[in-house]
Amino acid sequence: MNWKPNELLFVPLGGAGEIGMNVNLYHYQGKWLMVDLGINFPDESMPGVDVVLPDLRFLDDKIDDIAGLVLTHGHEDHLGAVPYLWRKLRCPVYGTPFTLALLRAKLKEHGLASKVPLNPMPYNTPTDIAPFSVEMLALTHSIPDAAGLIISVAGKQIFHTGDWKFDPSPQLGGVSDIERLKALGDAGVLAMVGDSTNAMVEGTTPSEETAKAGLLEAIKKEKGRVAITCFASNVARLNSLIEVAGQVGREVMLVGRALNRAVLAAEESGYLKDWPRLLDVEDFESVPREKLLLIASGSQGEARSSMTRIGMGTHHLVGLESGDCVLFSSREIPGNESAIAKVAGALVARGIKVIDADDAPIHVSGHPARGDLVAMYQMIRPQIAIPVHGTPRYIQAHVELAQNCQVPYVAEMQNGQVIRLHPAPPKRIGEAEIGMQTREGKDIVPLYGSGLKGRRKLMEHGTISASLVLDGKGRLVASPLIHQSGVMDDEKASDFTAEAMLALEDACAELNKNIRDNDAQVESIVAKTLRSLAKKMAGRRPVVHIHILRV
Ligand SMILES: [Zn+2]
Repeated sequence: MNWKPNELLFVPLGGAGEIGMNVNLYHYQGKWLMVDLGINFPDESMPGVDVVLPDLRFLDDKIDDIAGLVLTHGHEDHLGAVPYLWRKLRCPVYGTPFTLALLRAKLKEHGLASKVPLNPMPYNTPTDIAPFSVEMLALTHSIPDAAGLIISVAGKQIFHTGDWKFDPSPQLGGVSDIERLKALGDAGVLAMVGDSTNAMVEGTTPSEETAKAGLLEAIKKEKGRVAITCFASNVARLNSLIEVAGQVGREVMLVGRALNRAVLAAEESGYLKDWPRLLDVEDFESVPREKLLLIASGSQGEARSSMTRIGMGTHHLVGLESGDCVLFSSREIPGNESAIAKVAGALVARGIKVIDADDAPIHVSGHPARGDLVAMYQMIRPQIAIPVHGTPRYIQAHVELAQNCQVPYVAEMQNGQVIRLHPAPPKRIGEAEIGMQTREGKDIVPLYGSGLKGRRKLMEHGTISASLVLDGKGRLVASPLIHQSGVMDDEKASDFTAEAMLALEDACAELNKNIRDNDAQVESIVAKTLRSLAKKMAGRRPVVHIHILRV
């Protein structure tokens, strides 16, 4: 694929066609500006995988030409991959103060705190990241300090919205900067690249005030302990909960590392100045049940999270009992439904009441619904609209909405497509390499490499191991030792072992004189024998390991 230096290009490497792992590139004059670098969470088809990272292969020969990485906000799907992939990029990183405070805490855990140059950017102050100039525009989202980016380049303006909503009463942090949005639209915008998360939701997204009122209603009825889980970085929600706790005479206890990290970052960035003293989790037993409001991280049923351990009754300090209540003040991210249902089910089974956003108005979205998107298009009036941040269905819905808003050129894009924004006309000019990676120990490896493939096969088909002791002439000296795991149940396994022993004795007796000295060939015949027996008896294709000892 070829492009000219004066071409202004846009390339989504992640997030266009999926929820998560947002990575976007802009090109001009041989330089690349990266916007966001997020992760995705593994699903059930990825055993042993703790993080999914974007593949940045496309940048391999452009590393020296990366002008910088600008982060729109502090959510994992926008900055979570920085600690894993920054060593490859080695470029300056820009963001608002809360975003960088969260990132700094993560970098510390990865031993990168002093290495990554972090450049705080205040709102409404253009910063030169040559040949680009980038200005942060205040937008409300479900995290403090979120920003849309005004990218000025090639005499044009691009508005990269990041995640946003309109909320006249966000409870913490500022409202979306409507005046600046109007001025931007009046000055002329070439392209708007934006959030499709709620492009299928009619109406407008409710205010955080609605969630706060719903939480107050729900909590004031409760007589036992109340535990709530929400996104740890939703500091406005934490703030609402602190206020609600005060109104109903409860004290607040935070449980979970992610929550404490978010609170620290918020304090560092000048938020939470008037918070009351919080209870220490060590004091759980001594707090009267009706006086406790517990906030725990893990709203998505994450296996090791505090809420999951509390739900399963395995948390070392916090134990709920019949008559207590748990509120899920969050939405389910697609793919996490069954993990969340498992936690809720375990709670209900122990007599603990569970309330989620379907039962009561205790959560509001941080993303724009269709009415909000229309209002944004009316202010910005871009020449080109590029919906990102969504599955193909959401992106398609956003494309249709932008077309109905009379945007002259609407691009329905997928990860890896390269589009020329300027000079006109806008046009798709090629494809960039994309993919997914993960980490194994300290290495970053392709997601669908041999490690994951092996684990998936083990999960689906189980494993058989066999040890054979042979003499110099390839004859069995003792009965083979055979062990299976996960291929069939224990009852059937003893029949299998008996049949396998006979089959292996027969196979060894029939070994041709030419191959019985060759361990590799003997292994292959033995493995084949065991595999076909496993197929016959259990209908499975297990991973087979053979050990041959010679005496
Ligand atoms: Zn977000």
